[in-house]
Amino acid sequence: MQILHHHNLQPLNSFGVPAWAEHYIPLYTIKDIADFLATIKVSNHNLFILGGGNNTLFVGDFYGYIVHVLLRNIEVIEETSSKVLVKAAAGVNWHELVLFCVEKGYGGIENLSLIPGTVGAAPLQNIGAYGVELQDIIHSVETIELCSGKKRSFSAASCAFGYRTSIFKTTLRNQYLITDIVITLHKEKKFCITYGGIAEKLAAMGVKNLSFKAVSEAIIALRKEKLPDPAILGNAGSFFQNPWVPDNHYQLLKQAYPSLIAFPTHHQGLTKISAAWLIEEAGFKGLRTAHVGVYDLHALVLVHYGGGTGKEILDLAHRIQQKVADMFNIKLIPEVGIIGSHIPSTTAFF
Ligand SMILES: Cc1cc2nc3c(=O)[nH]c(=O)nc-3n(C[C@H](O)[C@H](O)[C@H](O)COP(=O)(O)OP(=O)(O)OC[C@H]3O[C@@H](n4cnc5c(N)ncnc54)[C@H](O)[C@@H]3O)c2cc1C
Repeated sequence: MQILHHHNLQPLNSFGVPAWAEHYIPLYTIKDIADFLATIKVSNHNLFILGGGNNTLFVGDFYGYIVHVLLRNIEVIEETSSKVLVKAAAGVNWHELVLFCVEKGYGGIENLSLIPGTVGAAPLQNIGAYGVELQDIIHSVETIELCSGKKRSFSAASCAFGYRTSIFKTTLRNQYLITDIVITLHKEKKFCITYGGIAEKLAAMGVKNLSFKAVSEAIIALRKEKLPDPAILGNAGSFFQNPWVPDNHYQLLKQAYPSLIAFPTHHQGLTKISAAWLIEEAGFKGLRTAHVGVYDLHALVLVHYGGGTGKEILDLAHRIQQKVADMFNIKLIPEVGIIGSHIPSTTAFF
């Protein structure tokens, strides 16, 4: 195990903002993790587990230990004529796992193509896109408890998955390091293409015989049209979650703003409001300050044009939160993890 001091985090976060880690430990193997836990006394306050840094905003330097999970392996651990269990290590790039599966004809994961980040971070916020969430395919999450060094396996049911959340983001935050996930995929040719223009894109691509690979390619094309590539323009995808509000609140808003975009939820009495619509209506879409701004093609994406800081992005996020609260009485909650700030992250509305 190697410990590096005063390590540059700028290339390790998708916003590309400057930040330094007091101590940085790359973890390539399970033995590295064991050595790290045996050597260093960690607490919630001085440890941050880093994957690809695609959902993390550093608003300053990090005083403590950044552990970078770089475990890499993908293997099929069980296979029948209809189903397959695939185990992937936490440091594997998520899209690499998707491609591995679609190439082999394993379905269920194709709608999650091109989501940036690592396998180990995926359970944290139950990543989702185009009508599918990780919880739809997860079998189990393998972890190591940081305080004891003991292995613990979480069944899908015990992960408490919800909209962009899980037990690892809430009650067990920073208590377990995810080492692997196991997903269940199917071989039957069933697809979810009713969402977000997938069917239209497949038609435009001239696809006649549906395959997991074709759906994956359609989604890659759609995502490239809508979202900025962090390698070119710093961002972390959706900065805020879509807020859930009581139905009566939604009805009042709909009367005042007939163009309001909202979606039903599984929870009776709650409606999900489009955060992008709220931000656009509040006048922020395309807004640019010196170094940061709101993406002109998607109001939910805050971007870093270069030369700025995490604090500048956070200040813009606060401005958006304030205006949206004033106009709609809705508190926007960040989806992005903010390291070194005090944005509240437990209630979705007031
Ligand atoms: C352009 C763009 C588009 C995006 N689109 C989507 C989308 O469609 N859907 C979606 O859900 N998300 C999306 N995101 C957000 C992001 O891709 C996901 O949140 C992804 O899971 C982040 O992975 P990461 O490895 O980069 O996480 P990081 O930012 O490194 O970490 C995120 C959180 O996970 C924790 N963590 C990381 N690894 C581990 C581990 N091994 N054990 C325990 N905790 C760990 C970290 O401590 C942190 O709390 C997008 C981001 C970008 C930049």
